[in-house]
Amino acid sequence: MTETTLFTRIINREIPAEILYEDDLCIVINDISPQAPVHMLVIPRKPIAKLADAGEGDKSILGHLMWVAGEVARQAGVADAFRLVVNNGEGAGQTVFHLHLHVLADLQGSNSFSESNI
Ligand code: AMP
Repeated sequence: MTETTLFTRIINREIPAEILYEDDLCIVINDISPQAPVHMLVIPRKPIAKLADAGEGDKSILGHLMWVAGEVARQAGVADAFRLVVNNGEGAGQTVFHLHLHVLADLQGSNSFSESNI
Protein backbone atom coordinates (compact mmCIF):
# COMPACT_ATOMS: atom_id res chain seq x y z
CA MET A 1 0.00 0.00 0.00
CA THR A 2 1.27 3.49 -0.83
CA GLU A 3 2.07 5.66 2.18
CA THR A 4 0.05 8.85 2.52
CA THR A 5 2.33 11.80 1.88
CA LEU A 6 2.61 14.93 4.01
CA PHE A 7 1.11 16.97 1.18
CA THR A 8 -1.81 14.56 0.76
CA ARG A 9 -2.51 15.03 4.46
CA ILE A 10 -2.51 18.81 3.91
CA ILE A 11 -4.82 18.39 0.90
CA ASN A 12 -7.12 16.28 3.09
CA ARG A 13 -7.03 18.96 5.84
CA GLU A 14 -5.45 16.52 8.30
CA ILE A 15 -2.52 18.94 8.75
CA PRO A 16 -2.96 22.74 8.73
CA ALA A 17 -1.38 24.89 6.04
CA GLU A 18 -1.86 28.32 4.54
CA ILE A 19 -3.85 27.42 1.44
CA LEU A 20 -3.59 30.10 -1.24
CA TYR A 21 -5.35 28.39 -4.14
CA GLU A 22 -6.94 25.07 -5.01
CA ASP A 23 -8.79 23.46 -7.84
CA ASP A 24 -9.66 19.96 -8.96
CA LEU A 25 -6.05 19.10 -9.87
CA CYS A 26 -3.84 20.92 -7.41
CA ILE A 27 -3.38 23.00 -4.31
CA VAL A 28 -1.03 25.90 -3.54
CA ILE A 29 0.29 26.57 -0.04
CA ASN A 30 2.86 28.82 1.57
CA ASP A 31 6.08 26.98 2.36
CA ILE A 32 6.44 26.50 6.10
CA SER A 33 10.13 27.44 5.93
CA PRO A 34 10.30 30.16 3.28
CA GLN A 35 13.57 30.69 1.44
CA ALA A 36 12.36 33.95 -0.13
CA PRO A 37 9.80 36.65 0.70
CA VAL A 38 7.37 34.78 -1.53
CA HIS A 39 7.71 31.00 -1.37
CA MET A 40 4.71 28.98 -2.48
CA LEU A 41 4.38 25.28 -3.28
CA VAL A 42 2.19 24.11 -6.17
CA ILE A 43 1.19 20.52 -5.42
CA PRO A 44 -0.85 18.13 -7.56
CA ARG A 45 -3.62 16.25 -5.77
CA LYS A 46 -2.24 13.13 -7.44
CA PRO A 47 0.66 11.93 -5.26
CA ILE A 48 3.31 11.57 -7.97
CA ALA A 49 6.46 10.95 -5.93
CA LYS A 50 8.82 12.95 -8.10
CA LEU A 51 8.89 14.56 -11.52
CA ALA A 52 10.75 11.67 -13.15
CA ASP A 53 7.98 9.32 -12.01
CA ALA A 54 5.29 11.22 -13.94
CA GLY A 55 3.81 9.16 -16.72
CA GLU A 56 2.75 10.20 -20.19
CA GLY A 57 -0.80 10.37 -18.86
CA ASP A 58 0.30 13.01 -16.35
CA LYS A 59 1.30 15.58 -18.99
CA SER A 60 -1.87 17.60 -18.59
CA ILE A 61 -1.37 17.74 -14.80
CA LEU A 62 2.23 18.91 -15.27
CA GLY A 63 1.13 21.62 -17.67
CA HIS A 64 -1.60 22.67 -15.30
CA LEU A 65 0.88 23.04 -12.43
CA MET A 66 2.92 25.42 -14.57
CA TRP A 67 -0.14 27.45 -15.45
CA VAL A 68 -1.21 27.66 -11.81
CA ALA A 69 2.29 28.79 -10.84
CA GLY A 70 1.87 31.77 -13.14
CA GLU A 71 -1.60 32.47 -11.78
CA VAL A 72 -0.57 32.49 -8.12
CA ALA A 73 2.52 34.55 -8.96
CA ARG A 74 0.22 37.10 -10.55
CA GLN A 75 -2.06 37.03 -7.50
CA ALA A 76 0.97 37.53 -5.24
CA GLY A 77 2.06 40.53 -7.31
CA VAL A 78 5.28 38.93 -8.53
CA ALA A 79 4.35 37.91 -12.07
CA ASP A 80 7.23 39.96 -13.54
CA ALA A 81 9.96 38.14 -11.62
CA PHE A 82 9.71 34.73 -10.06
CA ARG A 83 11.58 31.46 -10.16
CA LEU A 84 10.27 27.89 -10.38
CA VAL A 85 12.24 25.06 -8.81
CA VAL A 86 11.58 21.33 -8.78
CA ASN A 87 13.90 19.17 -6.71
CA ASN A 88 13.84 15.68 -8.19
CA GLY A 89 15.25 12.99 -5.91
CA GLU A 90 17.10 12.95 -2.61
CA GLY A 91 20.39 13.78 -4.31
CA ALA A 92 18.84 17.00 -5.62
CA GLY A 93 17.53 18.03 -2.22
CA GLN A 94 14.00 16.65 -2.43
CA THR A 95 12.66 15.99 1.06
CA VAL A 96 8.93 15.52 0.48
CA PHE A 97 8.24 12.75 -2.01
CA HIS A 98 5.08 14.21 -3.46
CA LEU A 99 5.82 16.30 -6.55
CA HIS A 100 5.73 20.06 -5.99
CA LEU A 101 6.86 23.24 -7.71
CA HIS A 102 8.54 25.87 -5.59
CA VAL A 103 7.50 29.39 -6.65
CA LEU A 104 10.07 31.84 -5.31
CA ALA A 105 10.08 35.59 -5.57
CA ASP A 106 11.21 38.75 -3.92
CA LEU A 107 8.45 41.28 -3.50
CA GLN A 108 10.79 43.91 -4.98
CA GLY A 109 11.19 41.82 -8.09
CA SER A 110 14.91 41.21 -7.67
CA ASN A 111 16.73 37.88 -7.54
CA SER A 112 18.33 38.57 -4.19
CA PHE A 113 17.15 35.17 -2.95
CA SER A 114 19.38 33.36 -5.45
CA GLU A 115 21.64 32.15 -2.64
CA SER A 116 18.75 30.29 -0.98
CA ASN A 117 19.00 26.62 -0.23
CA ILE A 118 16.29 25.64 -2.69
P1 AMP B 1 11.69 19.72 -1.25
O1 AMP B 1 12.90 19.83 -0.37
O2 AMP B 1 11.88 20.22 -2.64
O3 AMP B 1 11.07 18.34 -1.18
O4 AMP B 1 10.63 20.74 -0.63
C1 AMP B 1 9.80 20.42 0.43
C2 AMP B 1 9.33 21.72 0.99
O5 AMP B 1 8.19 21.47 1.81
C3 AMP B 1 10.35 22.45 1.86
O6 AMP B 1 10.62 23.74 1.30
C4 AMP B 1 9.66 22.54 3.22
O7 AMP B 1 9.92 23.74 3.90
C5 AMP B 1 8.20 22.41 2.85
N1 AMP B 1 7.34 21.89 3.90
C6 AMP B 1 7.57 20.82 4.72
N2 AMP B 1 6.53 20.63 5.55
C7 AMP B 1 5.63 21.59 5.26
C8 AMP B 1 4.36 21.94 5.78
N3 AMP B 1 3.78 21.24 6.79
N4 AMP B 1 3.69 22.99 5.25
C9 AMP B 1 4.27 23.70 4.24
N5 AMP B 1 5.46 23.42 3.70
C10 AMP B 1 6.14 22.40 4.20
